[in-house]
Amino acid sequence: METIDFLSSHGDLSLDRSFKNITTIKIGGPIKYLVAPFDMNRLKMIMTYLKEEGIKYKLVGRGSNMVCGDEAYDGCVIKLEHLDHYSFLDDGSLYVEAGMVVPRLANMLATQGLSGLEFASGIPGTLGGLIYMNAGAYKKEMKDVVKEVLVYKDGEFMWLKNEDCAFSYRHSIFHEDRELVIVACKLDIVKGERKEIQALMADRLQRRRNTQPLDKPSVGSCFKNPSTDYAWRYIDGVGLRGYRYRGIEVSEKHPNWLLNIGDARAEDFIATSNYIKDRVKAAYDVDLHMEVELFNC
Ligand SMILES: Cc1cc2nc3c(=O)[nH]c(=O)nc-3n(C[C@H](O)[C@H](O)[C@H](O)COP(=O)(O)OP(=O)(O)OC[C@H]3O[C@@H](n4cnc5c(N)ncnc54)[C@H](O)[C@@H]3O)c2cc1C
Repeated sequence: METIDFLSSHGDLSLDRSFKNITTIKIGGPIKYLVAPFDMNRLKMIMTYLKEEGIKYKLVGRGSNMVCGDEAYDGCVIKLEHLDHYSFLDDGSLYVEAGMVVPRLANMLATQGLSGLEFASGIPGTLGGLIYMNAGAYKKEMKDVVKEVLVYKDGEFMWLKNEDCAFSYRHSIFHEDRELVIVACKLDIVKGERKEIQALMADRLQRRRNTQPLDKPSVGSCFKNPSTDYAWRYIDGVGLRGYRYRGIEVSEKHPNWLLNIGDARAEDFIATSNYIKDRVKAAYDVDLHMEVELFNC
């Protein structure tokens, strides 16, 4: 069976998309195959097929932590947007599939007076992407709320316990073993006061609006915070707030955010981030490490 026929019989297939279309910073070249499997079983069939055919692949959530190269990607991007179901389990935890968009989930829970995901309500990714990154805000991270993760690897589905996921600051086992696909998870969600949960979320959203340049395409923070201080303070300290290079601007509002202010290319982003690293290293002898993932660059 032809690849196009196979993929389109097990998922929604697009042949005309680019990373520019599917990442929040709107950078990146054309994608040969983009497929959204209809369900978990179809995901397994697609993964098996790609492996047998030797076709490379990449899982993408909402592309809110990825800067992708401008060259064409000669592989298959897999999006789990049809895997977005959830249900409450007898043990009180919440089962949610990995394609669920987190702000949507946090809002749904808040409406039902359920607490646990308030910290993540402004992080514009999927559950799979947030678990992969151990994303966090306001001193909370996904590791505080994830009980178990359902993964797919080599034809098998299996549950990993929280302690098996090697969560640390913006890191997890999923960085080490790229063959693990996050399919679903169980979350620790507790009863709370609907009004209090909604007020907390509204307050945090307002704080984001006040301190983050949400009106321009970005990937959020570019660098992880070193143990010594916030990354933005070092960038500000070397005078790069507002610095521009081609299509990239270091945000005036939040210097750890690099914005696409025109038709930015991946090489502009990389050149700017390298320049920032060099300047901070020279001035403070501090190494900045990327939080954002560079892919196909
Ligand atoms: C406006 C804005 C605000 C942000 N605020 C925050 C914040 O407060 N805190 C924070 O931590 N981050 C923040 N981010 C960064 C980003 O949203 C997070 O890193 C998020 O976890 C990425 O989720 P995603 O679904 O977009 O993942 P993607 O960017 O699509 O993917 C990231 C990585 O996860 C992998 N991946 C995705 N899904 C799966 C899966 N199902 N199985 C295996 N691997 C998978 C991808 O292959 C890739 O390697 C922000 C970004 C923006 C644009």
